Amino acid sequence: MSLRSRLTLLYITLVGGILLLFGVVIYVSVSLTVTNQIDQTLRQTANNFISNTRVDQTGELFVTTAPLADLPTDVYVQVWSRNNRLSAAPNTPTTRMLDPVGYQSSKPVWNDVFIGSSHLRVLTIPLRVGDRFVGTMQVGTQLTVVDATQRTLLIVLAIGTLAAITISGLAAWLSTRQALAPLKDVTEAALTITRADDLSRRIPYRGPKEDETGQLITAFNRTLSRLENLFHQQRRFMADVGHELRTPLTVIKGNVALLRRMGSTDEESLSSIESEVDRLTRLVGDLLLLAQAESGKLPLARRLVELDTLLLEAMQQMRVLARDKLTMKIGEIDQVLVCGDNDRLKQVLVNLIGNAIKYTPAGGEVIVSLGKTANQARLTIRDNGPGIPAEDMPHIFERFYRGEKSRTRSQDGKGFGLGLSIAYWIVRNHGGRIEVNSVEGKGTTFCIWLPLKDGECPEMTNPG
Ligand code: ADP
Repeated sequence: MSLRSRLTLLYITLVGGILLLFGVVIYVSVSLTVTNQIDQTLRQTANNFISNTRVDQTGELFVTTAPLADLPTDVYVQVWSRNNRLSAAPNTPTTRMLDPVGYQSSKPVWNDVFIGSSHLRVLTIPLRVGDRFVGTMQVGTQLTVVDATQRTLLIVLAIGTLAAITISGLAAWLSTRQALAPLKDVTEAALTITRADDLSRRIPYRGPKEDETGQLITAFNRTLSRLENLFHQQRRFMADVGHELRTPLTVIKGNVALLRRMGSTDEESLSSIESEVDRLTRLVGDLLLLAQAESGKLPLARRLVELDTLLLEAMQQMRVLARDKLTMKIGEIDQVLVCGDNDRLKQVLVNLIGNAIKYTPAGGEVIVSLGKTANQARLTIRDNGPGIPAEDMPHIFERFYRGEKSRTRSQDGKGFGLGLSIAYWIVRNHGGRIEVNSVEGKGTTFCIWLPLKDGECPEMTNPG
């Protein structure tokens, strides 16, 4: 059964149930009220008659004329003497006993009886003088008005309930069609996307964004955007990897062909092959590292790291690269302890300092500093190079992203566009973050924030 049918059914059941309950309560309370009124009249009449009923010397019952004047025309009275003789029957159109069943009772009793087609309410009261049974009085009245009232009430309630159920069912059916129509759109859009393999489509929705359907569609569209993005990234990644692999492979193949033709070993060709193999090894290593870091599965040692010592080591290593090209300075340097993986953190420093050296033109300056706040270590690498263009800024931490200008400016041209992604993920895996500030033509500052050592550093949490 469709959701729409189920909702409509639920609606109908609820409305029908409530109205039915309501109807029963109304019917019963109206019936009780009317019957109570009738009973009161009968009781009053009976009391009136009893107080005016006498027993003669022979033990026969007779009614004085007094109550007959007040007797309502629709109330019948029968006074039966103890030998079943009808002593008095004012107003009563029949000599038949009004309620033969009640007559048997030794206590006052109320009964609804049928005499022919007449429906009567009868009160039967056994009459006694002291302990002596002297006769029976029966007072009754037609229930025509009560029956008519009940019948009308029943018809009104039934028609009302049916009308309400029909209207509410119809309203539920129509309103759910309107409310659920966007879900149909979602289903159709999802099917179209699957059939056409087109993730660029979005589900249109004209209703308010904050209602449930609006939220569902917004969430669905966001998921589509994310999926589209991921697919694009994946495609670009494949293209980038293919591109990065092709160049060294072409060089290797060319050199191997040359060696074969020459029939002898050529030192230049061999070192070219070796450097391309190194490059490929680096690429594969970087990709593996990135894949692990991105999925949070990078094996990291959590040991005490003296960042100041690490920074000095990295500077020492990188000075060789800078040679006479630029000045490398250490600004402020504090003693800072963090918990983490010494080698990975060094890799971050090498990547960032390496970039600064790579992209800053000769004669430039790279200044590295280390400080701390109350709970964070702050490492900054500042250069006065060309800066990063605003359009590159949002992408520099993406895999394989290389700024167009940097690509031409970088002297070695050997970067894969993976260095910053790797640095980003390593820092993130250490619970820190990287910020970048760059002014085109003035320079770039990378700032790494890492949580300071807080208590003991756990030993290797993730061996390997
Ligand atoms: P790669 O250096 O291999 O190109 P990275 O991921 O290390 O890749 O850097 C991505 C891009 O960020 C670079 O191509 C370059 O455009 C830009 N970039 C990074 N560091 C600097 C810097 N210090 N100065 C200018 N541009 C930079």
